[in-house]
Amino acid sequence: MVTGTAIAPGTASAAHSPLKTDGATKTITVCPFCGVGCGQIAYTEGNKLLHVEGDPDHPISEGTLCSKGAALSQVTNNPRRLRQVMYRAPGSSKFEPRSWEWAFARIAERVKATRDASFQTKSGEQTVNRTEAIACLGGAALDNEECYLLVKAMRTLGITYIEHQARI
Ligand code: SF4
Repeated sequence: MVTGTAIAPGTASAAHSPLKTDGATKTITVCPFCGVGCGQIAYTEGNKLLHVEGDPDHPISEGTLCSKGAALSQVTNNPRRLRQVMYRAPGSSKFEPRSWEWAFARIAERVKATRDASFQTKSGEQTVNRTEAIACLGGAALDNEECYLLVKAMRTLGITYIEHQARI
């Protein structure tokens, strides 16, 4: 993602109706959905994503997006998007809401317990410092920067099974 630049309000010609992107911050980024890696321009106002379109200067996609990439803003702006943790206890048939603090603490406890119980320092004579008992699976809604941070965090824990279906 390239640093965003603000578009001055009123830069559209007086002959045009106001655009929903007038005054928005324009940021060059890459579609996260698949390995084609089409170029996108994201328009934001504060924390709100207003619009996404193809980047005409991108060498691969030259401004085009498939229907999935063109609908990217629906990932963010979607009333059906879950905004709280839902937990299903072992043996239970229903999900129950939990706080983020509860979820972070529980994830940390379980990762630490699993890592402590499975950590290998050696494989034969070779130093490995790894755990093969935890895996990390990324999803297409993660962007390049999030994937970079995720891999750094997982490698720090000694996790070797790291996957992502989008191959960017
Ligand atoms: S999902 Fe579509 S727009 Fe996104 S990178 Fe792939 S082909 Fe390009």
